[in-house]
Amino acid sequence: MSKMLNVLFVSSEVDPFAKTGGLADVSGSLPQALKELGIEVRIIMPRYGAIDEEKFRLHEVIRLRDIPVPVGHRTEIGCIRSAFIVGQKTKVQVYFLSHDNFFGNRDSLYVDSSTKKDYPDNDERFIFFDRSVLEMLKRLGWQPDIIHCNDWQTGLIPAYLKTIYKSDPFFKDVKTIFTIHNIAYQGSFPRSSFEKTGLPADTFTPEGVEFYGNLNFLKAGLVYSDILTTVSERYAEEIRTLDEYGAGMTGILQKRRNDLYGIVNGIDYSIWNPAVDSLIPYRYNLNTLDNKVENKKVLLKKYNLEFDPTKPVIGSISRLADQKGFDLIAEVSEELMKRNLQYVILGTGEKKYHELFESLRKKYPTKIGVYLGFNNELAHLIEAGADMFLMPSRYEPCGLNQLYSLKYGTVPIVRSTGGLADTIEDVDLKTGKGTGFKFTEYKGSALLETIDRALKAWQNQALWRKIMKEGMSRDFSWETSAKKYLSLYKKLTKKS
Ligand code: ADP
Repeated sequence: MSKMLNVLFVSSEVDPFAKTGGLADVSGSLPQALKELGIEVRIIMPRYGAIDEEKFRLHEVIRLRDIPVPVGHRTEIGCIRSAFIVGQKTKVQVYFLSHDNFFGNRDSLYVDSSTKKDYPDNDERFIFFDRSVLEMLKRLGWQPDIIHCNDWQTGLIPAYLKTIYKSDPFFKDVKTIFTIHNIAYQGSFPRSSFEKTGLPADTFTPEGVEFYGNLNFLKAGLVYSDILTTVSERYAEEIRTLDEYGAGMTGILQKRRNDLYGIVNGIDYSIWNPAVDSLIPYRYNLNTLDNKVENKKVLLKKYNLEFDPTKPVIGSISRLADQKGFDLIAEVSEELMKRNLQYVILGTGEKKYHELFESLRKKYPTKIGVYLGFNNELAHLIEAGADMFLMPSRYEPCGLNQLYSLKYGTVPIVRSTGGLADTIEDVDLKTGKGTGFKFTEYKGSALLETIDRALKAWQNQALWRKIMKEGMSRDFSWETSAKKYLSLYKKLTKKS
């Protein structure tokens, strides 16, 4: 029998400990699915101040108490705490890298909540994180076959392995996978930051970690990892072939095309499933769909809107960023408010969109409900209570909310890009086949036409139920995708 595969999964956010977006959902659920396939997988992330140590029972790992790590000319000392994600079938060990100044004394992950700007020392924070991961492994004496890195915050790890740690016998057989969850966030810093990495000077070239004079963490991951993946097939193709998607990286991805794979994200149906969801007031499934309307009533009350059975509720849950298509929503907002519908939004992000939604709420207090902030419980209630889910992204690596929406019978209205294109099937109004409403051209008029098509379908409740049920029966659980990761791990390690 072959030896068990050991995988270290490295991520800057992991649900349920710390989350700003879909990366956390994936980092919390994929490792469990991998473990169910027989892989020994462990996770490492930073210990941010907002992580509740008591609730999650974090404890110190005594022999990993003082880990010296060079950052520029200084030596910073990290230590490791540990806890478990306890799932239904497995539990996965999570290591937390602790450092008060870099992580512990800060509540938010990347952005200073008072200035709304990135922390000025994000370079040092993640140089420290990446190098600590390797130092921690050596001290722990646990040798992974694969280090699975995720997004720019982890991009230096493969670069360190191929340079500073190249002849270290401990890492001789360690391979790396780098997963791109969003190519637009790259961790780009001035040249002076490169000096702090400790990487050899000859890596600061366009073939290495340099990108137009800057240190680029993401590029380091793209150049030095053994295998690259991203979170849908369509997005893999978009970022490799189209400049407007590739964010400057099409060249390197083209070069590495044989090492680039698209694997669609799964979702955790023990968390996102209206039949078992403990965060919603009324549970339901395919056979008890009438309960959904009870959630709708509770949802509307939360938003101070009147329940009206003739009006469908459209929901959005999102980072308020250009990526998510809010400029299109802004463009059609006046027209939208003329339609017989209500709209509820949950999100936080760019100031211009906070202002947009505030002003719409003032103008149309009976039609739109606005919650500007992060609220997981409300996110579940929107999925359960809304009739439609609006996600007109400019680009979307995978997208999770449209998948949650399918499971909750909340019919998605999406732009056909990236993972949205791969996971939503456009409804044929004649036959009722399909799971959502899609448009392609990035234009307000196309969005409005598509919303109108959905509103028309909603008028025919028998047809609508058919569409809901079709979506609810789709299976986006992790199993299939986890097996694809497993086969890449095996390919790298030649283990079977
Ligand atoms: P992205 O990772 O680009 O932000 P995804 O659709 O992949 O987008 O994942 C977003 C995740 O974050 C989902 O789980 C969604 O419910 C959650 N989320 C986003 N904004 C909020 C918010 N304001 N409050 C609660 N959850 C949110």
